[in-house]
Amino acid sequence: MDHFLYRDGALYAEDVPIADIAASVGTPFYVYSSATLTRHFKLFDDALAGTDHLVCYAMKSNSNQAVLKLLGDLGAGMDVVSAGEYLRAKAAGIPGERIVFSGVGKTAEEMRIALEGGIRQFNVESEPEMARLSGVAESLGKTVPITVRVNPDVDAKTHEKIATGKAENKFGIPISRAREVYAQAAALPGLEVIGIDVHIGSQLTQLEPFELAFRKVADLTEVLRTDGHDIRRLDLGGGLGIPYERSNEAPPLPIEFGELIKKTVGHLGCEIEIEPGRLISGNAGLLVAEVIYVKDGEDRQFLILDAAMNDLIRPAMYGAYHDIIPVVEPAPGGEQVKYDVVGPVCESGDTFAKQRVMPQVGTGDLIAFRSAGAYGAVMSSEYNTRPMIPEILVHEDQFAVIRARPTFDEMINRDTIPTWL
Ligand SMILES: *Cc1c(COP(=O)(O)O)cnc(C)c1O
Repeated sequence: MDHFLYRDGALYAEDVPIADIAASVGTPFYVYSSATLTRHFKLFDDALAGTDHLVCYAMKSNSNQAVLKLLGDLGAGMDVVSAGEYLRAKAAGIPGERIVFSGVGKTAEEMRIALEGGIRQFNVESEPEMARLSGVAESLGKTVPITVRVNPDVDAKTHEKIATGKAENKFGIPISRAREVYAQAAALPGLEVIGIDVHIGSQLTQLEPFELAFRKVADLTEVLRTDGHDIRRLDLGGGLGIPYERSNEAPPLPIEFGELIKKTVGHLGCEIEIEPGRLISGNAGLLVAEVIYVKDGEDRQFLILDAAMNDLIRPAMYGAYHDIIPVVEPAPGGEQVKYDVVGPVCESGDTFAKQRVMPQVGTGDLIAFRSAGAYGAVMSSEYNTRPMIPEILVHEDQFAVIRARPTFDEMINRDTIPTWL
């Protein structure tokens, strides 16, 4: 469920007409709904009610500081994967004790930044990383709480580019070697082993892979406890999918995810962390664009937008599907047309949808991509020297620009031409 609905023939974000935002900031832009972000965070928080838990929002899905502040004020922790994200979370007011640091390639400098600023835990992904983290912690006179990310070799049944829990993926240590690796970790002076971490992928639309992974984590918890490790925190990752194609997808709900967690690991008495990203931010955002031209091709019509692959790369990168709807509500029974929906970038990959059947629109009309709040703005670039598009946050009948569109001068002045040229 989201808060982008038609009302009196026009698309609204909460109580703000989308067309009003377009008139004020120009297109294209991202718009997020505070009510949807809040609702989705609470669904997870409530799903784990009665269990000692922390929902650590995977901020790589949408890291605008206004979004982080909103979620932080609701009690969210953050899952960060770089020093930049760590510092961004801190800048948004998230205390270090609510930040977990994930990722396969943390550098010593990133470790130092997080250790000096305060951190809840590191999710360590390899033996060389363990050794380096221990060294950095020791040099700062600290011991750092860690979990080890295990790779359970479970098929997440999702897109291959976002599956992370198979043996062939770069993430975590093979669960079969966990005892040996935990023994090594426990022997390192800068580390305090407190738990286990697992994250098997993104956009999962079934519960079974989670169940398989969580059961393996539960078994491992008992084994590691027998080995003398005080396993008291389980970080079960994120990955719950959202219905991009509303008509025929129904991924599991956060409440079912919560019930599964209680069923599979509840008996262990561990504190639970989860790291949802997409399910919190995805349906909380639209990408709004204007139709520049409707172009007749040989055998098809192209809808050429002012938004492009540099603004929303998911269709080009993963073949991802996004619902595309007009901002003026189509008349019931109105004409449906088949379009190839494309951007202006000089690549054929700059295609949002091929042969998409949708209501007829014309030059100058506004359209909206649904479910664009996650892995949208954060993955954007200035390819073709196109300015990064603004982000807008709506709260009831107010809206605010939470990231402005840069001027051409700002973009161009970022380069430096050496004096010898
Ligand atoms: C990307 C990622 C997440 C969030 O995944 P979603 O599919 O957005 O919920 C959580 N944890 C880790 C370690 C990740 O890399």
